[in-house]
Amino acid sequence: MSLLIDIRDPIWMTEESLKDYLQPLLPGVAIYCCDAGEHKADITMLVVVSLYPGVSEELPNLKLVQKLGAGVGTIARDPNLAKDVRIARLKPQAPAQEIAEYCVAYVLREQRNMQFHEHHQSNANWMQIPPKKSPTTKVGVLGLGHIGSYTARAFAALGFEVLGWSRSPKNIEGVCCLHDENALPDLLSQCDYVASILPSTNETVDLLDAKMLANMKPSAILINAGRGDLIVEEDLLDAINNDRLGGAVLDVFREEPLADDHPFWTHPKITITPHVSGWHVDGALEDVAENYIRLMKDESLLHETDRSLGY
Ligand code: NDP
Repeated sequence: MSLLIDIRDPIWMTEESLKDYLQPLLPGVAIYCCDAGEHKADITMLVVVSLYPGVSEELPNLKLVQKLGAGVGTIARDPNLAKDVRIARLKPQAPAQEIAEYCVAYVLREQRNMQFHEHHQSNANWMQIPPKKSPTTKVGVLGLGHIGSYTARAFAALGFEVLGWSRSPKNIEGVCCLHDENALPDLLSQCDYVASILPSTNETVDLLDAKMLANMKPSAILINAGRGDLIVEEDLLDAINNDRLGGAVLDVFREEPLADDHPFWTHPKITITPHVSGWHVDGALEDVAENYIRLMKDESLLHETDRSLGY
């Protein structure tokens, strides 16, 4: 029984560096990088960022796909992944803090009129306008899981009025927690900023379409650090271009990398970052080794996802 690592993202992490980390934790276990060659039938666990076409189909004894991150939506929906293959994710602290920082940074950019002041500095213009008050500003956080709850708490700690939304009921100090789909339009209608850290599931794909976006304040800013397929892109552009929405800050997209000629790149009311809001997985990689050991002992896995829910 052995393990295959297939990352294909050398800027983030190489297969070899992960193997070097895991091998001392799994002495005697054969770990293959990129391709198991003639040992495909030995592979029980596949470690990926994305599940590439054709890979799982060649592994007849695959039992577990271990995602090196949080979002498992496309893996869970992959029609070629055998139904009995389990999926686990990582839950590192670093990206929860990083995504909270990302959302806070872009909200504070607006609250403190930073772009306005940078523009006037370039013209040596002493131009005073008041910053916006946090206690009277409402921030909505969609998704109150590992990352979203951290983000909601970060806004609450800064004194914002925070509304959160999840599938099941939650109780987070300083956050007005709402749940179920009926609560979403009301949340959207109240908030000055809405930050989404939702996973991609059958229920969240295209959730923010023209009808749902129409609930938002015309001045509101939408921040998306979850998954790009949450938003119907044409509907977002239409809402912003027709002054029904103030703007958007987008880290994730339906197609990544974003095409060179995509209208988001040059839109004056849209800020683009290339899927960097959460990055590091420090401290969580040993869970990959732990899950291999647990899989072999037929014990419960760390951070196993529910394939039917898609997260
Ligand atoms: P979790 O699984 O811990 O949390 C997901 C949250 O979304 C939960 O609160 C869940 O509700 C809620 N949710 C799921 N479906 C629905 C729904 N239909 N309606 C309302 N709420 C729903 O995941 P994480 O917080 O760890 O990560 C969230 C997502 O962030 C990942 O799936 C990934 O796509 C994205 N991500 C992006 C990164 C980036 O760099 N941009 C980096 C890391 C993650 P409940 O609590 O009731 O189950």
